[in-house]
Amino acid sequence: MTASDKETKALRQRLATQGAEATANELIFKRAHERQLSILEADSLLSLFEYLTTGLANSYGIPACTLVLCDPEHEIRHLLSALHDTSVPPGVLLVHRLSVFPQLYDSLQKPWLGPFNNAHRPVLPGGDIKSVAILPLAREHCLIGSINLGATDPQRFTADYATDILEHLGSIASFALENAVNRARLRLSGLTDALTGWHNRRYLEVRLTEEIARAQRSGQWISCLMIDIDRFKQVNDTYGHLAGDEVLREVALRIATQVRGSDVAARFGGEEFVVLLPDTEDRLARNLAERVRRVVRATPILIEADRALTITVSAGVAAARPQRHGDASAQGKALLEAADSAMYRAKKTGRDRVLSARSVSIANEID
Ligand code: GH3
Ligand code: MG
Ligand code: MG
Repeated sequence: MTASDKETKALRQRLATQGAEATANELIFKRAHERQLSILEADSLLSLFEYLTTGLANSYGIPACTLVLCDPEHEIRHLLSALHDTSVPPGVLLVHRLSVFPQLYDSLQKPWLGPFNNAHRPVLPGGDIKSVAILPLAREHCLIGSINLGATDPQRFTADYATDILEHLGSIASFALENAVNRARLRLSGLTDALTGWHNRRYLEVRLTEEIARAQRSGQWISCLMIDIDRFKQVNDTYGHLAGDEVLREVALRIATQVRGSDVAARFGGEEFVVLLPDTEDRLARNLAERVRRVVRATPILIEADRALTITVSAGVAAARPQRHGDASAQGKALLEAADSAMYRAKKTGRDRVLSARSVSIANEID
């Protein structure tokens, strides 16, 4: 082999190596790009959480990926339960402050890669994790949490791994999280009544259909209470709108004392409240409505320092066992209308009372 042949062979080998590296790099960038897109495409806080845990673990082919986020006011928890009717999904850890894990966060500014140690255990529990990557998440230059990748291969995440791509992933995730929280806040405010802080009618109508569909699957009863303050206009006319507002807030608080966590309570209109009671039949619903009536009437409501008014409510109760294959939205509407007409009968027959729609006829109507 001549010198020039040798040179050509070496050159060819180098090109082949570079070609393989380029292909590998191309694949790395393609995967990174796909992950970034998936993060940006998540259309809710819950789906973003799912992608940043299970989604990333699948994409990296690793057994564990968790998310730690600072949630000092329990706002994220609240958004999840109000908008998605769910608690914090597995793999997501919400903490009051990051200093609960000082060894992890005290000096975390860039992705930290290296062998698994005891400091990682609280955020990457279980499994046979040998190496980890902790990617900081930040908002306005403040650390707000981290994405934690855990691999069984000790060489998967090592200190000499190029971290640019991981750093970029962390920035995109931080941006997406902030956006998702903002969108969720806005969505919730559109579904919340500002005066009482209760859900509003729009929210109730969506939940009603969902709860009817759930009752269709489970074959359980569902009940609905329509509660209306008696002669409320007189309160406004006599003592002013602000006094009326005070009465509304206090009545809402008193109803809330009787409502269970699984019930759905909403301010339906001006001085009307609706409580949906999943898995509850007529008798229990009537008892609850009766307790509400008594608790509202029992203690006069203070509207000024030296003036208190005895307020009463009328309530209509309807219960149904929705038919399995019916239209959930139409069945929900029928249930609400039945509760509403029972409430009107309570008004017509003297107020300060609870009347039941004949639940059998509601069930038949809905069947
Ligand atoms: P009934 O016993 O038949 O229910 O009589 P009512 O006076 O309670 O009912 P009506 O429907 O005649 O009046 C309801 C009033 O509620 C009229 C409306 O101005 C008032 N209202 C609605 N929303 C609010 C609110 O947010 N704040 C206050 N202060 N008043 C409100
Ligand atoms: Mg009224
Ligand atoms: Mg009314």
